[in-house]
Amino acid sequence: SAQVQEHINRMAELGVDVVRVTYPDLTGADRARDVLLESLPAVCAHGLAFCRAVYHTSPRGDTVDVSGGLDAGLPDINVVPDLSTLTPLPWEPGVAWCHGDVIDPATGAPAPESPRDVLRRVLARCAELGLRPVVGPELEYFLCDPVDGGWRPYADHTGDVYTAGRRGDPAGHLTRTLRHLRDLGIGVSAGNHEFSGGQFEINLTHSAALDAADRTFWFKTAIKELARAEGRLATFMAKPFNDQGGSGFHLHLSCVDEDGRNVFDDPAAPYGLSAGARHAMAGVLAHAPALAALANPTINSYKRFGPDTAAPWLIDWGLDNRSAMVRIPPERGAGSRLEVRLGDASANPYLVIAGTLAAALLGLRAAEEPPAPVVGHGYDRSKAALLPMTLGAALDAFAADTELTELLGKEFAASFLAYKRDEIARFRRHVTDWEFGEYSYHL
Ligand code: GLU
Ligand code: MG
Ligand code: MG
Repeated sequence: SAQVQEHINRMAELGVDVVRVTYPDLTGADRARDVLLESLPAVCAHGLAFCRAVYHTSPRGDTVDVSGGLDAGLPDINVVPDLSTLTPLPWEPGVAWCHGDVIDPATGAPAPESPRDVLRRVLARCAELGLRPVVGPELEYFLCDPVDGGWRPYADHTGDVYTAGRRGDPAGHLTRTLRHLRDLGIGVSAGNHEFSGGQFEINLTHSAALDAADRTFWFKTAIKELARAEGRLATFMAKPFNDQGGSGFHLHLSCVDEDGRNVFDDPAAPYGLSAGARHAMAGVLAHAPALAALANPTINSYKRFGPDTAAPWLIDWGLDNRSAMVRIPPERGAGSRLEVRLGDASANPYLVIAGTLAAALLGLRAAEEPPAPVVGHGYDRSKAALLPMTLGAALDAFAADTELTELLGKEFAASFLAYKRDEIARFRRHVTDWEFGEYSYHL
């Protein structure tokens, strides 16, 4: 069509001749095919075929028994580029990224597993209440250098939090990365060295939820790509090292009405938080055990939780309190918001955002009030319920939370559970280094 041709001309003028059509699998890992610019009209007309295996193959290549996969003979899924998202890559001249939407050819409808559509489903329910969620993601990650066939933290020095420049970042990774991300145009505001050696945080600007998820998806991909290009590894794993802290995926959340007014703000209400904000927070707390399955989706995720970590451990909230699971930052007015600190960086951005919004929506519907805020040190176990401490416990809570899974989509929830339970089954059979160290010699 004329519109497709316009996009092609625009890209050609920018020197682009390859379009990389990207979409997330269940884990949030980017899956993509490179399309020559001249093939774009055909791809837009018919879609881009992928094997459905992307939804039932683990990152290590194990086949997971998810319905609609091997049992159905490994059929196609069809990815349709969203040309409004075409974005040239500053670090790979000639290549542009483009988000894709995943269609199930058997039904012509979005594939039930598609994380982008899981989020769209929840947003449609928010829209019914006239709510437009605003999301600001901030993610931490470790940059690693190669060592003896493995990886060790880049700048292996703790105590560098907020140490800018060459002391915490000898190869200038952060400023270079910030410039690349700015040139990519995905709305990044600032970055800093985090608490652990080689750990960085970058803040994305806040925006409408789907846009924020799309940008976070590309953000994670960009960070991994840029690190690989210089022979390094950037990992968003929740807790990659025993002697270092974990990496969070904090989600700042507010809601605006049709006029763009922040409906989480109410100077006359308790804590300056509107009833809607308090109900949304109560929902996030009430559904936290199930939400953990999406926000903390790996076996490793649960090693980040713990007392005295700046990561959560209990299901609680506090006013400007970083030891709580939900922090209310001190700003009010347009800045009144929740900071949900539950998620870790390994989470699929679409799913953690969809799950958090679904939990908030359930709290709004039930008009629940949150318990009293935690004051001071927030890791006192007698004061609040413990989060699930294993992936298995979180998956059980997710499976049992039918209110939440109905909002996300029952078929999606079933696929996600099957995929993640398979991960646990594979791990259960795997003998770790720790076991050998603990049991091999004296017993
Ligand atoms: N690294 C901590 C976490 O895992 C967060 C530290 C911070 O507040 O920036 O959530
Ligand atoms: Mg941080
Ligand atoms: Mg934060």
